[in-house]
Amino acid sequence: MPALQRSEAAVRAQLLDVRSYSVDLDLTRGEDLFRSATVIRFGCAEPGQDSFVDVNPAALLRAELNGRPLDPAALDGNRLVLPGLAAENELLVEADMAYSRTCEGLHRFADPADGAVYVFASLGPDLAPQMFACFDQPDLKAPFTVTVTAPDDWTVIGNGTSARLPDGRWEIAPVGPVSTYLVTVVGGPLHAVRTEHDGIPLGLYARRSLAAELDREAEELFEVTRASFDRLHGLFDERYPFGTYDQAFVPEFNWGAMENPGCVVFRDELLFRSAPTEAQREMRAMVVCHEMAHMWFGDLVTMAWWDDLWLNESFAEMLGYRTAADSTRFTGAWTSFAVKRKGWGYDADRRGSTHPVAAVGMGSVAEALVNFDGISYAKGASALRQLVHWLGDKAFFAGLNAYFAEHRWGNADLADFLAALSAAGGRDVPAWAEAWLRTSGVDTLRLEVEAEGDVLASVALVNDGIRPHRVKVGVYDLADGAVVLRGRIDAEVAPGGRTPLPELAGAARPALLLPNDGDLTWALIRLDEHSAATVGSSLSRIEDGLARAVLWEHARDLVRSAELPAAGYLRLVADHLPAETAVTIVEAVLKFAAEHVVARYLDPADRPAALALVNGAARAVLARPDAGESLRIAALRAAVATAAGPERLAELAGWLDGRDLPGGVPFDTELRWAVLVQLAAAGEADEERIAAELAADPSNTGEQGAARARAALPDAAAKERAWQAMFTPDGLSNHLLVATADGFWRSGRPDLQQAYMRRYFEQMPAVGARGGAVVKALGHSLFPVGLALSGTVRAAEACLARTDLTPTVRRVLADELDDLRRAVAHRA
Ligand SMILES: [Zn+2]
Repeated sequence: MPALQRSEAAVRAQLLDVRSYSVDLDLTRGEDLFRSATVIRFGCAEPGQDSFVDVNPAALLRAELNGRPLDPAALDGNRLVLPGLAAENELLVEADMAYSRTCEGLHRFADPADGAVYVFASLGPDLAPQMFACFDQPDLKAPFTVTVTAPDDWTVIGNGTSARLPDGRWEIAPVGPVSTYLVTVVGGPLHAVRTEHDGIPLGLYARRSLAAELDREAEELFEVTRASFDRLHGLFDERYPFGTYDQAFVPEFNWGAMENPGCVVFRDELLFRSAPTEAQREMRAMVVCHEMAHMWFGDLVTMAWWDDLWLNESFAEMLGYRTAADSTRFTGAWTSFAVKRKGWGYDADRRGSTHPVAAVGMGSVAEALVNFDGISYAKGASALRQLVHWLGDKAFFAGLNAYFAEHRWGNADLADFLAALSAAGGRDVPAWAEAWLRTSGVDTLRLEVEAEGDVLASVALVNDGIRPHRVKVGVYDLADGAVVLRGRIDAEVAPGGRTPLPELAGAARPALLLPNDGDLTWALIRLDEHSAATVGSSLSRIEDGLARAVLWEHARDLVRSAELPAAGYLRLVADHLPAETAVTIVEAVLKFAAEHVVARYLDPADRPAALALVNGAARAVLARPDAGESLRIAALRAAVATAAGPERLAELAGWLDGRDLPGGVPFDTELRWAVLVQLAAAGEADEERIAAELAADPSNTGEQGAARARAALPDAAAKERAWQAMFTPDGLSNHLLVATADGFWRSGRPDLQQAYMRRYFEQMPAVGARGGAVVKALGHSLFPVGLALSGTVRAAEACLARTDLTPTVRRVLADELDDLRRAVAHRA
């Protein structure tokens, strides 16, 4: 369907004023279709003008404008022209709509655990017309009343309070004016847990087969929810404006969560069927806080157009981490941000597809979709964290409160945000924004150190970049084998500038000088030689976890840009990972070491020894007597993922049969499926074994585990079955697609892999027609990253030279190709 152009949206916003939507859904009409009847009441500033409504039905049954029938055959793609508008209008559109299996529109899921059926709506950024007729752009907000006909045993919830009508239908009351992409409905035989906090009714929902998990997790979820509300109510003048606050955990969700006002939807993996690590719990707490921040940033005040996606995501991201760190037990959230999240953004910022945080000239909503990336989230949040540090909390939040007061229930853009902040603060915010939000790329900060023996002569902070930075420089000494903080020096440095740090002249030479200590800015760092040597010898002995996270991310940056050879990174892993105490660092480093450094940067011949090294590091953590359950879970998962060779695989097979299980870790379903996929890829488990495991775990995660393991089987027939399943439109749900793709390249004859690589680039262009979720699944999870050879680069380049790619296909393949070239550079 053609994406809405910005110019069209601007004209329509000038012309129309939407008063209200009434959406009536009938969800009792079979597995494929539901009935959607929408009445839109709206004003028109220039009566007599034409406009159009967005609707993308399986069949358009009826349309009436002000009582006049419109010809359903006039539907052009997803647009129906509305001719000759009156000053006040009533539009009725009735259609049969298709359920989605890729979480794009109204997603329908039949739970393999018990056969129960669930639906939920996921409408961002431009999928609302898959559920109801609407003016689908963020700046045409209106109150929605939704009624739903559903099976008798269902509970139906949505943005407003839901109630059962005397005729058996459910009615969801309107809440404020909201943008179309923020409307949701969740239905099914839901299990619920409810409470109240500070006058706000709170609800948690999940499918019936996860009732025990929801009951188990409810206390912690409510605890974080309460803490987040209290914190945000302390920071903001405006109270939470949407009445009830429901959080629904749904199956097969594409993202972590979605901030629908009053009804946040989360992927239900966050209820943890298998024992999670503390880092996973911390991440979930951050997501809870992130989505709640959206109630203000995005829902109460919405970006006028997708250019300002950062006004939603960067703020929610920054406040998500900050609220979790400041107000919940997950005080180390910023450590995870440094070691797990920022890399996503740094990588994005160094690719050809990078863009300013506040993008300019985004012509269509299709371009918006590809910008839900590491720039809009990780970099934008880092920029805002730097802004807070540069401006101070008081001025920052005074500005935000002015912004909310001015634009509540409406829309805003960058200029509105800067105006509010400028009025509140003493510094030149527009100049800051020009340097930080309107440019792309990442600066590098380094320290220029002159020493005479053990005494520093001079130290200066040098900024090779284009933005001002206010940072802390960490000064660390070696004492009794540990690297301990002597102090932190506040410093500001101008673009291209050099700031002397006179307090260090004449001081004893420290073991480590760390630019951007505390991770308060968005910049790469380069260490002086002496400090780099300390990191090599003593990284795990630095007492501060956040400093270690900054340095592990620094090492990741060095190896990605081939300034550090793969062997150098693996040496750090072998020397320092076994003693690491932060679970989040253990998870991030072992994953990157196995999936990037070993699987991409090394020649196949060098991989077994490298994999054994990573496996050894994981097992060393597992063997540590002081390792708690979380560390042991993280280490065991990595040990399973990197197991290779007869001895290790035999050990894995034993674990699956319950023999010699490593102590202190619940060996539950996630680990069992992880073991099985390893055995399948190695040819040590067959279809019969997979089927038996699935019979023992007939859940959707079991189905995903089986799909992954089946795709990992090395025989040619299994590969072809997996391939056909992935490239047959509507063949697999979004999550089964990702699982199958994830298994595919784990095994197979080299000549067959080459053949599939060529087929991949032949077939990807046509995948564009299957929608953004499928493109992202196959574009990211099935891209042949392990085949880092010049032939793969050429095939990818030839594909990208085609003129028939959708923007999403082009962007995903271009980004993966950039990563592939880095891998080829390592192997050259
Ligand atoms: Zn968000």
